[in-house]
Amino acid sequence: MTSSLATVSYIGATILFILSLGGLSNPETARRGNLFGMVGMAIAVLATVLGPRVTAAGIPYIVGALVVGGAIGLFAAKKVQMTQMPELVALMHSLVGLAACLVGFASYVDTSTVFPSEAEKAIHEVEIYIGILIGAVTFSGSLIAFGKLSGRIGGKPLLLPARHWLNLAGLLVVLWFGRAFLHAPDIQAGMTPLLVMTVIALLFGIHMVMAIGGADMPVVVSMLNSYSGWAAAATGFMLSNDLLIVVGALVGSSGAILSYIMCRAMNRNFISVIAGGFGGGAPAPKAEGGAAAQPQGEVSPVSSAETAEMLREAKSVIIVPGYGMAVAQAQHTVYEITRQLREKGVNVRFAIHPVAGRMPGHMNVLLAEAKVPYDIVMEMDEINEDFPDADVSMVIGANDIVNPAAQDDPTSPIAGMPVLEVWKARTSIVMKRSMASGYAGVDNPLFYKDNNRMLFGDAKKMLDEVLVALKT
Ligand code: NDP
Repeated sequence: MTSSLATVSYIGATILFILSLGGLSNPETARRGNLFGMVGMAIAVLATVLGPRVTAAGIPYIVGALVVGGAIGLFAAKKVQMTQMPELVALMHSLVGLAACLVGFASYVDTSTVFPSEAEKAIHEVEIYIGILIGAVTFSGSLIAFGKLSGRIGGKPLLLPARHWLNLAGLLVVLWFGRAFLHAPDIQAGMTPLLVMTVIALLFGIHMVMAIGGADMPVVVSMLNSYSGWAAAATGFMLSNDLLIVVGALVGSSGAILSYIMCRAMNRNFISVIAGGFGGGAPAPKAEGGAAAQPQGEVSPVSSAETAEMLREAKSVIIVPGYGMAVAQAQHTVYEITRQLREKGVNVRFAIHPVAGRMPGHMNVLLAEAKVPYDIVMEMDEINEDFPDADVSMVIGANDIVNPAAQDDPTSPIAGMPVLEVWKARTSIVMKRSMASGYAGVDNPLFYKDNNRMLFGDAKKMLDEVLVALKT
């Protein structure tokens, strides 16, 4: 492939990636967006492998790597459960960071490039230093995020004493060694500052994510998404690959916008979240799956038949899906119930909290998969004021996103986080298996409110029973 054809292919791929991002911004066009992304990536890979910078001798290695990587990717994609997607994404971000580090070290020890001037050599070395720095933070931070999302590491924040000073000291050491790296007379002398910086960056990534409390994880996940984009862009600079620079910048900036949206959704300050320490106000009673939190009063259990009766008699119902709906894979039954109720003239709408589930857009994906019409799926800001007019709010496997303590208890780890005000409906029904707390590990006073009923059991099983009762 000639150099100009490769350039044209890169431009084509870039346009497809931009169209892909545009498509992904709306559930109705998301499939098309994905398709654009896949075609763009296929063109990008072909143009790179067949392009002028790859020699014939290198092709078998690249094809071998593609086959191995593709097979692992295919296996992981087929095997992964929908509930494990967030941790898979975190793991993939870590690979982008690792790739940036490896490319950085390889570019540094590669003596084949001849630089026309000292200035260009210095610029290349700055690219390497920054590329490895971003890559290492992304790599270790994403691995810790993987651990936290998969429950291998507890959700409670690790708050080291003087952590901000530690971060500042790390930054100063990185700057100091950066100077030493740029002034190193040869590769051997430059390797020590490069390695020291890499170790500090790895420790910073671990420290940054370990310090984040459970409920603030969505911000970290989207932020690491952004970092992985900048790591890819840095790799593009090191390899002088324009496509990688553009694509990395697209991922980096869209991830940054998503982080901003997530911060607004959590009512958090972005800088404070990345500096660590949010989400740690009060002791967290437990991480997901552990012992139940301290009870605060009596709860009123309800049966599936009674739930069906309340739904049948309602004029307006708001359904709030959460992580438990994803675990139970109850979205199809939820839609069947919605259809039944709408046929009976009940106004049914869905309220989606921006951090419901375990990844941005998690609930929208599940509801789209079950073919729930988009016009009854509302964002939190669109529907929160309508709860007082609803007869029934039905919470399916959600917990933190409907916790009134976020508004009422300033000492709560989730204080200040906007929540769906389900308790303002005439009756709220919470469907979950036990009294256990959610991801943030905080007890939920909603369960003990007078107008709240608890439908205990697996969401899918309970909803199947409700559906049967509704049909009779
Ligand atoms: P939560 O984690 O707060 O609560 C989920 C609830 O679902 C649990 O309390 C659990 O209770 C219940 N549950 C689990 N399995 C089932 C089942 N099979 N049937 C019925 N219920 C079940 O989820 P939310 O969606 O309310 O909130 C999301 C949380 O995750 C927030 O804290 C958010 O910050 C965090 N987070 C979000 C991310 C994102 O990007 N969206 C990323 C990372 C974290 P029980 O065990 O009693 O059944």
